[in-house]
Amino acid sequence: MTELPGIVITGASGRMGQMLIRLVSASGKARLVGCVVREGHPWVGRDVGAAMGGAPLGVAVTDDPLQAFARAQAVIDFSSPSATVEFAGLAAQARAVHVIGTTGLESDHLHKISWAAHHAVIIRAGNMSLGVNLLVRLTRKVAQALDADWDVEIVEAHHRMKVDAPSGTALMLGQAAADGRGIDLDSARVSGRDGITGARDRGSIGFAAIRGGDVVGEHDVIFAADGERIVLRHIATDRAIFARGALRAALWGQSAKPGQYDMMDVLGL
Ligand code: NAD
Repeated sequence: MTELPGIVITGASGRMGQMLIRLVSASGKARLVGCVVREGHPWVGRDVGAAMGGAPLGVAVTDDPLQAFARAQAVIDFSSPSATVEFAGLAAQARAVHVIGTTGLESDHLHKISWAAHHAVIIRAGNMSLGVNLLVRLTRKVAQALDADWDVEIVEAHHRMKVDAPSGTALMLGQAAADGRGIDLDSARVSGRDGITGARDRGSIGFAAIRGGDVVGEHDVIFAADGERIVLRHIATDRAIFARGALRAALWGQSAKPGQYDMMDVLGL
């Protein structure tokens, strides 16, 4: 019998990290072979199950990513942009599939990640859920069907701890609307209006972010015209949807050639 793919979780003490540790160890589709935290984190050296306050899982937490990645067929990474860039290089060295859920990546980070993709499979998505990836497709189709008489606004809500805005998902949706319209998102994008902004520019794509409480993630794509409005909405109520998508990506990546992919490839959308 072939062995199940070994998976390392980075950002292991984080919200998504802990969700992934539980999912991978209970999945029966993969083996949890490593958990990586920041250097000097109090969990280093402890069994990860016990560190999370549950039963031992037989995997010790480490702050040495290279040593952990050497045992992995895939690395699932929901951490921070600078850490993700470092992990991309190390995962490529270890020839492990790198699944990147981290958001807030700037063009410099993306450039460095694209270098790593010459040698390894990298699957990156600002949102790993099936529902949101379908919403991205729908947004593109609706934007394609409507002209610039329909103003596009994207409103998102997240928990109070989220550090980047607009969310990675909001940007995916904005990109889909821009692609549908055949325009460049960077030149159409208007974020966070405040003060005397003047009237709305025709054809612009607006972003607004709400932060508060424990909201997992809510996204509205609004197409507003004179006399009518279309609202496409996704509401996430459980982080498990992102973790399930990430595990599915890690398994899908085992048979892919080196290069960069997203959840559309994984889901075959
Ligand atoms: P979090 O703050 O709870 O967890 C992030 C973890 O990464 C923390 O434990 C932090 O210590 C760790 N980390 C940072 N730098 C590190 C390093 N150098 N080495 C090891 N660990 C390091 O945040 P979260 O809610 O779990 O989200 C993490 C990221 O995933 C964010 O960018 C978030 O926007 C994104 N996210 C993406 C999706 C998706 O579907 N793509 C879904 C949810 C969250």
